[in-house]
Amino acid sequence: MFDRGKSGYVNGLVTLRATQLHKRAPRYSSHDQKEPEDKPKAASKASGATASKGIGRTVMPTQNEIVCYACGYHFVIRGRAEATQCPKCGARLSLKNETITGGFRDELITAGKVTVTRNAIVDGATIQTNDLSVSGMIKSGDIKVYRTLELLEGFSIPEEMIITRHLRIGPGAVCKINKPLQVENLEIEGVLEGTIIATGEVVLRSNGHFIGSLTTEHLQVEEGAGLTAQCEIAPPAPPKDKSDVDETDTDTTEDTKSNGH
Ligand SMILES: [Zn+2]
Repeated sequence: MFDRGKSGYVNGLVTLRATQLHKRAPRYSSHDQKEPEDKPKAASKASGATASKGIGRTVMPTQNEIVCYACGYHFVIRGRAEATQCPKCGARLSLKNETITGGFRDELITAGKVTVTRNAIVDGATIQTNDLSVSGMIKSGDIKVYRTLELLEGFSIPEEMIITRHLRIGPGAVCKINKPLQVENLEIEGVLEGTIIATGEVVLRSNGHFIGSLTTEHLQVEEGAGLTAQCEIAPPAPPKDKSDVDETDTDTTEDTKSNGH
């Protein structure tokens, strides 16, 4: 059922490519080399005091929040399990975490997490998952992410496939999205350029940079983060009384007309 994939994915697709950030500050690789104390300036002691509180907190949901891939129902489970049952529709759901390492064009359905590693190529596959983490290439297919999409350094994915509740841009990842994108929560540790409407919270980490236009109710910017954007940070609009609005609009229009003549 992936005919569209045959013709070399979909026409007009804009494929996003992660750009290698050559010579980025050593802090990006510090975690696999040195102790955090060796980090230069950016995460110096000033922020260190609050680090344990603020920095570690994530706006992303935990893996205990499950979205049923059969009916879409959200529920919470306790502990670890390989499978569970949806309390609403009764479907038995796999909770396995799966890793794709090479070429992949099969079907993979889980309420756990799917990781597309750096050398993986997903082409014409069906993937339904609660969480998807991408360091490799997704070329085409039917991809549904019910919870969190994580784009990591080296990722490649067609822009139209970036549909998710929560979006995380990992350290070193560079993501440019041309069409406006709506998400619930957004966490940026790399670079994200686009027009984003977030209904929940946006967190810009100290090594993150957002460029573009941002509408959200909550914005958290860590010291050192970059923000080159037009921002609208506003609480949700109160529900309008429709009759009031209509009357006002009508009055205004009439006044304007009569004044004009
Ligand atoms: Zn269900």
